[in-house]
Amino acid sequence: MVVATLLVEHAAELATLAGPPGPRRGAQQAEAGIVRDGAVAVGADGSIVAVGSTREVRRAVQLAPDARVLDATGRAVIPGFVDAHTHAVFAGQRADEFALRLQGHDYLEILSSGGGILSTVRATRDASETQLRQAAFSALSVMLAHGTTTLEIKSGYGLDRETEVRMLRVARDLCARGRPHVVATLLAAHAVPPEFQNDRDGYVDLVCREIIPAVARDGLARFCDVFCERGVFSVEQSRRVLEAGLAFGLAPKLHAEQKSHLGGTRLGVALSATSVDHLEYADDDDLAALADSNTVAVLLPGAAFLLREPRSAPARRMIERQVPVALATDYNPGTAPIRSMPLTIGLACVCVGLTPAEALVAATINAACALQLGETVGSLEVGKRADIVILDLPSVTHIPYRFGENPVQTVIAAGEVVVEAVKSA
Ligand SMILES: [Zn+2]
Repeated sequence: MVVATLLVEHAAELATLAGPPGPRRGAQQAEAGIVRDGAVAVGADGSIVAVGSTREVRRAVQLAPDARVLDATGRAVIPGFVDAHTHAVFAGQRADEFALRLQGHDYLEILSSGGGILSTVRATRDASETQLRQAAFSALSVMLAHGTTTLEIKSGYGLDRETEVRMLRVARDLCARGRPHVVATLLAAHAVPPEFQNDRDGYVDLVCREIIPAVARDGLARFCDVFCERGVFSVEQSRRVLEAGLAFGLAPKLHAEQKSHLGGTRLGVALSATSVDHLEYADDDDLAALADSNTVAVLLPGAAFLLREPRSAPARRMIERQVPVALATDYNPGTAPIRSMPLTIGLACVCVGLTPAEALVAATINAACALQLGETVGSLEVGKRADIVILDLPSVTHIPYRFGENPVQTVIAAGEVVVEAVKSA
């Protein structure tokens, strides 16, 4: 009989998200794997050793003498959220710019007066590694308290070799702390830096020849991302960046079809990208290409909502056409200062039309697949890391319904209780 050091039992709804390997698509996107009166048991190594009904799990495990038992009566229990797209390392805030945008000032007007992303680039270049680490650590604590146990962090506010490497070193330090678990992405091609405004190809050369090799040599990133957008990087420039990353073992990701339809999605599918993100302007041909691939569509409804974009990603058509959909906050200081996955689920239901169950799948197992972590996190299954969240809600359907609240009561990361508001039984 297997020994458990931690047991969560009597969950009104245990959403296991158990299912076949890989991202869930079509009808599977709505299968949360609900068990009534559910339980999940954790072993000394921080992985899940049993999951099922409380009766089944109680029969399958022997409690260690010092085991903790958490009674989740009346509550829903889910896997920790996976936030598959954030820009969580940066310096400076842009609340004033947010206020200007609310008054109708155009983003391009703000950018031309020195604001926008370039103000974050200036602040980030000026910040020390310690300052960046402290700011990001405090943001990650907020995310953890909202149930996020794994997140991706992109660079992209340095736009030079030194600062991009510094941002990724901060991400590595945060990863070493382990809670939440961090996956790093190089996004040197996030914007054109001021010194290359008239020489975009020259900056792409720098990214391909210097920044990617330097980051890969130090093992600082798993993915290479690019902002493929009109006025930023063309499809051809994006291809150069992603192919250079692939040559150094960095898997491709793209910011694609956010403000216009340019062709980034098709490029991503052609390069077997792990994910393509945003997709407000994705068309039916893009969806057909995605449906035939292993690439996950990551939607960022918080960014579209706060930018008051006229168009939202075609999430319903994606699910109908068998495209696997994931969700992320896009946490960044400009367009999405959002750190809450429960809020993001609410926005996904209200703004792009996902059902609560589809949004939960998108925020857990499919988001894990968008980070190539589908085999280790994103569901409550034996052998996976014990990232478990107890919600102060009777059902997962209440996550979007309690819009704007933080419903998280207890967070368990790799088998350890790291956020707690529940008494042990
Ligand atoms: Zn982004």
